[in-house]
Amino acid sequence: MTLQGLALPQARTAESRPAHPPPAPESVHAAGRMLDSHGRVIRDLRLSLTDRCNFRCTYCMEPDVRFAAPDTLLQADDFVRVAGVAADLGVTKIRLTGGEPTLHPALGEIIAGIRVRTGCEIALTTNGATLDRSSLRAWKAAGLDRVTISLDSLRSDRFARITRSNCTPARVLGSIEDCLTEGLTPVKVNAVLVRGVNDDEAADLAALARRPGVEMRFIEWMPLDSGHAWDPERWVSAAETRAAIERRFPLVPLHGDDPSSTARTFGFADGTPGRVGFVAPVSSPFCGACSRLRMTADGMVRPCLFSTREFDLRPTLRHGDDRDVARFLIDATWTKQPGHGIATPQFRQPDRPMSAIGG
Ligand code: SAM
Ligand code: SF4
Repeated sequence: MTLQGLALPQARTAESRPAHPPPAPESVHAAGRMLDSHGRVIRDLRLSLTDRCNFRCTYCMEPDVRFAAPDTLLQADDFVRVAGVAADLGVTKIRLTGGEPTLHPALGEIIAGIRVRTGCEIALTTNGATLDRSSLRAWKAAGLDRVTISLDSLRSDRFARITRSNCTPARVLGSIEDCLTEGLTPVKVNAVLVRGVNDDEAADLAALARRPGVEMRFIEWMPLDSGHAWDPERWVSAAETRAAIERRFPLVPLHGDDPSSTARTFGFADGTPGRVGFVAPVSSPFCGACSRLRMTADGMVRPCLFSTREFDLRPTLRHGDDRDVARFLIDATWTKQPGHGIATPQFRQPDRPMSAIGG
């Protein structure tokens, strides 16, 4: 099944990177919240700690992807400061991501700094290739609440082909167990299915969720890969994935999903505990309830995953105080676009890939 009207995104053009967003109305500043001009409120901040990665997943990064120059990257205390200001403006959830955030040498320090400065829930998204119990324990003690781990195949040969790494599914499954043991729960496990690559593993992967503490989430492949090779013919819809799972495990919708949550979640009809979520940004965009703001490892604030305009926070971090940073975040949020428009003919894939934005 393919989505009608879904076409290859238009070719890339230079993106806009102004140093400062245009000013939001003073009444918006007076509210002391990050509000956008479409009535949405930011509650969820995603910080990409690095654009580097020890994998080169085929749907995400080309083998020779170019990384940001080291001298453009933010320092650990910059991330903490932005998290603190965002929390003062109403953010309640902070996700540390990348690239591969566990490659950041100061990850523990960043978690601890955010915990001291904010009461936010702190989550980490990782490929799980290098996790071990002592790091997980230390991060939990520092303030980490939850971990999301990506796993796209349970077959070693395929896993190696998809990730272009020498890691194995067994290693990642071991990391999931370690997170459960260390109480970093619920552990969400993300998979991206690509037709002809791993789409026949939907039910096998869903079976991972047939135990308490694990939620399996299927994310539709988005046109955000560094090679601009996203292909509607190989794209797999959430509906198709769900149908494939239901041939083995009938599902029942769970009620009470947060409207701003990216996933629609289901339980197993046979009463086995566990949750399966579908994140369908392409077939069922959830932009209307979006509560997310992102910052890249080089300090670019992106009002939308698909923004073709991003704002450089570095000069404000260097020369401004926290009130200036707050003004910047409020102004950037006000520019948030109404939606990504993936299925429209005008859609243009952003220059910056998912790995450099922070998934
Ligand atoms: N490296 C970490 C990982 O893989 O979990 C964190 C960063 S990765 C960009 C975050 C999530 O984005 C992963 O679950 C990955 O599968 C997903 N992802 C990457 N590229 C994607 C794409 N083009 N479309 C949909 N999801 C994508
Ligand atoms: Fe790295 Fe995550 Fe992208 Fe895979 S999905 S290449 S692990 S950033």
